[in-house]
Parts: sequence; C-alpha cells; structure tokens
Amino acid sequence: MEPNYPAVLKQIASEIAPLVGAGAPAAYIPALASVDPAQFGMALADVDGGLYGVGDWRTPFSAQSITKVFALALALAEGGGSLWERVGREPSGNPFNSLVQLEYENGIPRNPFINAGALVVTDRLQTLTGDASSEVLEFLRQESQNPDLRFDADVAASEHEHGDRNAAVAHFMAAYGNIDNPVPSLLEHYFWQCSIETSCADLALAARLLARHGLRADGSRLLSRSEAKQINAVMLTCGTYDAAGEFAYRVGLPGKSGVGGGIVAVVPGRCALAVWSPGLDARGNSVAGVAALDRFTTLTGLSVF
Ligand code: GLU
Repeated sequence: MEPNYPAVLKQIASEIAPLVGAGAPAAYIPALASVDPAQFGMALADVDGGLYGVGDWRTPFSAQSITKVFALALALAEGGGSLWERVGREPSGNPFNSLVQLEYENGIPRNPFINAGALVVTDRLQTLTGDASSEVLEFLRQESQNPDLRFDADVAASEHEHGDRNAAVAHFMAAYGNIDNPVPSLLEHYFWQCSIETSCADLALAARLLARHGLRADGSRLLSRSEAKQINAVMLTCGTYDAAGEFAYRVGLPGKSGVGGGIVAVVPGRCALAVWSPGLDARGNSVAGVAALDRFTTLTGLSVF
C-alpha cells in the first residue's frame, strides 16, 4: 500500500526540527557560508506523477555536487560506457576534493562523484555537447518543468576565486592525459554546473529519472534500465562523500549530497526524494537532511534493503 506521503513528510519535519541549524554551512566557498542555516525542506516525487513537500521545499539553493548525478546521466546517454575507461566505480575513502589517490592511480579518479571524477565526466560531456554546463541546466529545467532554473553567478564566481584545489586536480589529470578540453574552460563549466540553483521540488522531479529506471519526465528514455541501475549503485556506494557506508547503514537508499546542504535519494520503482538543510556535518553531508531520510525509510520501510 502507498504510504500517506504528506503525513509522513509532516511527521519527519516535526521530528527532525531540533536538528535544523545543527552543523555548519560549507565555509570554503564563501558565497555558501552566508546561507541561513535555519532552513529545512523535503520533497518527494513519485513515479506516477505525485509531488509532495514540507517546509522550505520550494526555496532555491545551490545544488552543488548533486548536479554530478545528472552530468553523469547525460554523459552516459550521449557517449556510452567508454567513460568508465577514464573513471572508476569504487568508493575513495578520502575527502571529495582529495588529490592523494590520483598520483598512484595514474590520473584515473576512483568514481564520478568525487571532484576529480566529476571533472572527467564534465570534460566528457563538454566534448560530446560543446556546452556541458548548459546541458545540465537545460536537463534540470525540463525534468522539473521549471524554466526559471538558473546558474548563480555569485556562487560560480566564488568557486572560481577559491578553486585552486579543483584546478590542481584538473591539471594533474590533464598531465596524465585524462582531460581532453583546456583546463580553464573545463573548470568554468564545472563551477557553473555546481552553481545551479534548484529547490527540493526541482531535484526530486529530476531524480525521478532514476526512480523510473531511466525514463524522462516526458516518457522518453534517456538511460537504459541497466545504466539507471548502475548510476543508482554508484550513488549508494560513493554518493555521500566518505560517509557513504554510514549513509547506506542509516538510510539504505542510493543518495547524492552536495555542500549546499541538499541530498537526493532514490527508491527505485517508487519515488525520488530531495531534502535540504544547509548545516553540514564534518564530512559534508546535511545533518538534518540525513536524519530526515533516515526517518523516511524507517517510517515507510521503503529502502533497497
Ligand atoms: N563545487 C564544489 C566543489 O567543487 C562541489 C562540492 C560538493 O558539493 O561536494 O568543491
């Protein structure tokens, strides 16, 4: 039987209220550090078209690394599986912006959701389409049916200004021949992609692609069923920084977080969820967001396990 989603979301919001504001917004991107941490929203989009939400679920925030899921979907759809020759599918066990593994693994990033791997994916998408960041924005607009989605120029500029580490990662991989486009333009596309502003409602609708096994909002197929399964699997094992084991243990769903405080999660065949609260824990995941998803799977029994 279908859970009563509005009632479940309401209950979650009231239960996790004491955690809203816990943790701290990302400090290393100054434009994100100034966001009011006392916000919480959660949205659920089911495979039949229902959309439900609670709290600040229509408030736009910086999607950040959540966009890596959609860039990966587009790169696989456009270019097929040869991408996997350039990026792995294993958890890194290191922080998302780490350089250390890259040298002894010859410039091949562990997975597409750490920054190094996402840079390879954006590089591939850039080669395939000529405008990687706009492809991701356009995809999100279409899936969310929200033509107002936009890049946040302040966030993109802030990332650029404080982007030495991403620049180092990209140049390092270029030295190994694993980047095809000029590094400065690749970084721009990556920063613009990360800066896209979305609400929980927008992200839940977009992530429905993975709940519907690769079908887009208009019913056309973007990914094969297998590719959708593969992305969900990599989200489960690598989607929440070096806390993916803990996230799988607590939530039991494929999920991808971003340092803007958002997390998307997928119940294959049933629904997609998006949650947002800007306060992050030490590993970069939203404190209230993880707790809300934990409550969701506990209350509904909807998990992949
Ligand atoms: N734009 C951020 C960075 O590259 C994304 C980080 C994230 O959300 O994980 O550092």
